[in-house]
Amino acid sequence: MKEYLRKLPPVHELQKEKRFEEIQASFTLTNDQLTKFIQKEVSELREKLISGCLTNLHPDQGFSEMIFGNVNKKVSEWKKDRLTRVINGTGTVLHTNLGRSRLSEEAVTHVISVAQNYSNLEYQVQAGKRGSRHDIIEDLLKEATGAEAAMVVNNNAAAVFLILSALTKDKEVIVSRGQLVEIGGSFRVSSIMEESGAHLVEVGTTNKTHLYDYENAIREETAMIMKVHTSNFKTIGFTETVETDALVKLKQEHQDIVFYEDLGSGALYDFKKLGIGDEPVVKEVIDSGIDLVSFSGDKLLGGPQAGIIVGKKDIINKLKKHQLARVLRVDKLTFAALEQTLKAYLTGENASLKLPTVRDVTKSLEDIKQQTEEFTAKIKSQADTYQVEIERSTSQIGGGTMPGVELQTYVATIVHDSLSAQELASRLRACTPVIVTRIQNNRVSVDFRTVTNGEMEAVVNGFLEIEGCK
Ligand SMILES: *Cc1c(COP(=O)(O)O)cnc(C)c1O
Repeated sequence: MKEYLRKLPPVHELQKEKRFEEIQASFTLTNDQLTKFIQKEVSELREKLISGCLTNLHPDQGFSEMIFGNVNKKVSEWKKDRLTRVINGTGTVLHTNLGRSRLSEEAVTHVISVAQNYSNLEYQVQAGKRGSRHDIIEDLLKEATGAEAAMVVNNNAAAVFLILSALTKDKEVIVSRGQLVEIGGSFRVSSIMEESGAHLVEVGTTNKTHLYDYENAIREETAMIMKVHTSNFKTIGFTETVETDALVKLKQEHQDIVFYEDLGSGALYDFKKLGIGDEPVVKEVIDSGIDLVSFSGDKLLGGPQAGIIVGKKDIINKLKKHQLARVLRVDKLTFAALEQTLKAYLTGENASLKLPTVRDVTKSLEDIKQQTEEFTAKIKSQADTYQVEIERSTSQIGGGTMPGVELQTYVATIVHDSLSAQELASRLRACTPVIVTRIQNNRVSVDFRTVTNGEMEAVVNGFLEIEGCK
C-alpha cells in the first residue's frame, strides 16, 4: 500500500488542476469550500488505503481523476435542496410528513410579494405610525368565523399552550378522560397542560363522560372547561360525550369559567354537507356560545402552518398582551398566505373549492378515474416492464382529521417485472421530483386524488426512468 500512499496527490497540487476550476465554476463554490471537499476526499482515500479496503488498484493508478470524480458527486449531493418538492401519490390529502396543505396560487403570489418587499406588518399606513401585526387580518378571521376577536400564533399546539398559560396557570382545567388525546406522538394535552402550569382535572371515563361529571368537578379553583376535538381517533360503541351546547349552559352558571375547545382541524368549508365526515365548521362552534376556539391553519383550512384563536374579545385581548404571544408570533409570510386563503372562503363556494386542500378532499371520483386512466394508458404504451391496473380504493384525509372517513377513490396499481414493490417505491422516492406512493398487497399504488394534472408528466417520467435503468 505504501507505493499507493506515496502517489496520493497533495491538496495544493489538486488545486492547480483544471478540474478544480471546472468544478468550482459549475457549482459556484468558493476556493475554500471546494478545497475542504478535496481535503476530506483525500483523507478518506488515505484511510481506505491504509485499512486495505480499496481493491482493484492498478500499479500505475492515478488518483487525481478518482478524487475529482468523487468530489463532483459529493458537491452535487451537497448542492441539492434539503427541503424539496414531493409528489404525493398516497391520496392522503393532509399528510403531516409531506407538509400538510398545499397553498393556493393566490396565497403563493401574495407570499412572494410580501417576502420580496417591505410591508405594513406593524405599521398603520394612513396614520403613519406603529401598528400591531395582530390587527393585520383579524377582520377576515372574524368574518370567516363569526367571532368577536381573533389572533394567530405559530401552530395550534402553540395556541393551546398560550391559552392555558395565560388563562389557567395554577388553576384547574376540567377535561373529559375521553379527550385526553395524543397527536402525532409529540403533542399530548396532558403534557402541554403540565408545561403551562395548569392543573388538569380529569372527569368521566374513557368511553363516557356525563354533564354531571363536569358539574361535580367545578369548584373555586376551576378556571376552564376544555373540550378537545378527538380528531385523530374515533371511539365507537358504548360512548357518550357532552355536547357543546350543554357545556355552554353549564358555563353560563359560572361566569368566571372560560369554556374553550381545541378544535384541531377547524374547517371553514362545510364538508359534511357533501357527506364527508361530521366536522363542524368553526362558525357553528362559535355560534353555540363557546368562549374560545383554536385550530390549525394547515389542516382542513388549507392554509399555512398557524394556530388560529377566535372567540370573546376580552379573553383574546388578554392573550394578545401575554408575553408568550410575542414568543409564539408568526411572521409576515404566514399572514400573507393566511390572508389569501381566508379571502377564498369569503368570496364564495367556488373560490373555496379551488383551495388545493378543499379541492382534493372533495375531488370527484370521475376526475380521479380520468387521471388514473390517463396514467395507465401512458405507461402501457411506453413501457412493457410494468403491469398496471385500475382499482377502486379509499383515500384518507390525514393530518389526524376526520378519522374513520374513507373517501372513495381509484388507484393505479403497478407491478414491475423484476423489482419488488419496496424496491420500486424506493426508486420512485429517488426521482426528482420525489414521488411518494403507497404499497398495498405487495403492489405500488398511486392515488391521483393528491396528484394534479400538472404533476402527471413527472409521475409518468419517474416510472419510465426506472424502467430504463433496471
Ligand atoms: C392537530 C391538532 C393539534 C396540533 O395542531 P398543530 O397545528 O399541528 O400544532 C392540537 N390539537 C388537536 C385536537 C389537533 O387535532
